[in-house]
Amino acid sequence: MTRAVMPGSFDPVTYGHLDVIERASDLFEDLIIAVVENPAKCCLFSLQERVGFLVGTVNHLANVRVDTFSGLLVAYMQSARVRVIVRGLRVATDFEYELQMALMNHELFAEVETVFLPSSHRYSFLSSSLVKEVALHGGSVTAFVPGQVEEVLKRKISAERG
Ligand code: ADP
Repeated sequence: MTRAVMPGSFDPVTYGHLDVIERASDLFEDLIIAVVENPAKCCLFSLQERVGFLVGTVNHLANVRVDTFSGLLVAYMQSARVRVIVRGLRVATDFEYELQMALMNHELFAEVETVFLPSSHRYSFLSSSLVKEVALHGGSVTAFVPGQVEEVLKRKISAERG
């Protein structure tokens, strides 16, 4: 198990993501953060913004790089020659969906295995959508996202308000 991919929409990256990324980077020789181009849910931020935030957030981790993909994750994995998916697990409600995805990906490409890392308890409530909602209603998100993300998030929200 030398190389792994952590896929997601990262709209935007939070300290919860970073916690899982740091721990996964300790377990694998190479870790690719694969940002999905057109997820069904999301996105407040463009692909370029989401990638830019991630690059700025993981630049202290030498074995982590950021890439993008569209379409099937397993197709991307075949071209990137990687067979391990890392996903973070927060509350129990994540589990059902994550298990379904893991089984489907394995069905599509039998070499693929999914590794789940439990969220640190201090981030188990944290999600990108909740961060956006708090920011939208004027709450502080300093404790949840890197400074650069917070700044752009505030700017974007006030621009949308006009
Ligand atoms: P997706 O849209 O695919 O769910 P996300 O960007 O929301 O992508 O999440 C990417 C990965 O990071 C997922 O595995 C998700 O479970 C994990 N993750 C998100 N927030 C946290 C958190 N607070 N703690 C641990 N893992 C998290």
